[in-house]
Amino acid sequence: MNKDITLIFHNQGLRSFIEVDLCAECPRQDDKGCCGFYSPVFYPTDLAFLHLHQPEIIAQIFAMDHLTILDHSITVNNVPEGDSYRCKFHRKSGGCMLDQTRRESICRHFVCPGIGWWEEATLQDWKKYMEQLTDYEIALNQRLADALNARRLNLRDPSLRETYFRVLIELHTQETENTPDFISRMPAQQSFRIMRQLRFGKDWEL
Ligand code: SF4
Ligand code: SF4
Repeated sequence: MNKDITLIFHNQGLRSFIEVDLCAECPRQDDKGCCGFYSPVFYPTDLAFLHLHQPEIIAQIFAMDHLTILDHSITVNNVPEGDSYRCKFHRKSGGCMLDQTRRESICRHFVCPGIGWWEEATLQDWKKYMEQLTDYEIALNQRLADALNARRLNLRDPSLRETYFRVLIELHTQETENTPDFISRMPAQQSFRIMRQLRFGKDWEL
């Protein structure tokens, strides 16, 4: 069965995301799709954004159980369910409870290989953009982690967290003062339609 799929690329700098209409009727037909195999990991750029725009999500994360908290990242571990898992942010009806800009980078960027939009000639500018953005975000997260380490701050020690977030916000604001050219030159939003042959259940590649 062939299906017309609409992809919308949203350029919001570090909060960029890809919207795919097929996700609402995911061919995996298990109410989870790719979210059934992933545990989101929040890094300093995500934490700074959430702290500035919706700090209650950070409080909600720290109240969850089975977290993996490292010096500069928090993994919200999924729970086994059936023959896959369930992300703690996923609801059977309505999918992810986080707005797209509030999600971490894999959750904002990932599109399954069954769609494989990056193979389209017309989408090569966006492919390059997403690659550059990933590199930029990794390097920025590393610089933030280094600067926080130099101040002996980490997420593991609850007594340091208030200071951690105050310093993180200062550093993040300085680091993002200037928008890199590769972000400025892309449109804020662009929509594309591509045709793909659907397969269903586990035949739909993740
Ligand atoms: S598996 Fe593909 S279609 Fe299904 S939710 Fe994930 S990205 Fe969307
Ligand atoms: S945070 Fe949202 S998008 Fe990411 S795996 Fe969980 S439910 Fe899916």
